[in-house]
Amino acid sequence: QVTVGVLALQGAFIEHIHMLRSIPGVKQVIEVRTKAHLESVDCLIIPGGESSAMALIAERSGMLEPLRQFVRTKPTWGTCAGMIMLSDEATNAKQGGQELLGGLHVRVNRNQFGSQKDSFKTNLHFPTILGEKQSFPAVFIRAPVISKILDDSVEVLSRLEAKVGQTDAETIVAVRQGNMLATAFHPELTSDNRLHQYFVHLALQAKQ
Ligand code: GLN
Repeated sequence: QVTVGVLALQGAFIEHIHMLRSIPGVKQVIEVRTKAHLESVDCLIIPGGESSAMALIAERSGMLEPLRQFVRTKPTWGTCAGMIMLSDEATNAKQGGQELLGGLHVRVNRNQFGSQKDSFKTNLHFPTILGEKQSFPAVFIRAPVISKILDDSVEVLSRLEAKVGQTDAETIVAVRQGNMLATAFHPELTSDNRLHQYFVHLALQAKQ
């Protein structure tokens, strides 16, 4: 069994916590705000929210370096703003710059869908992890996309299937690199917990 941490500095962390309570294999769910909290968990979810605000709070609370170390050694899943935090590079970043945790060898583009399509729901396929036939209902809210894969160790899990605004179908919206998982959308805002199950499965394997 695993203890799952959810970074609770800012953003949509409560919804992840609720969803995790329904997943077999989860012993405990902890809201992570300090280094001590981080040391007590086996894996971490970095939620959606506002990545520049999250980075600022992490910096002020002395969490940037502990988080940088954690995400490079233990299973971590970044959703939306959390995916931005995990990325090595971000374009369209906050003016004046914003800190990233890095470690995930991709470049993301923040706020890809602009104002005309700030939020939308679409079905995605995750052929390698959910099977060819199953689709997953994905909620995108001022979402980023992965605009470039920077290393062969990054596996594409899912792409958009329809053109959204200026953004092409086939744009990458979910990846895995070892024990790092990143999704551009909010899987905690639907009642479908299959991606949470998948992440817990990765964490259980890593702990063995
Ligand atoms: N636009 C936000 C950012 O740049 C991400 C939005 C989200 O997490 N739903 O951080």
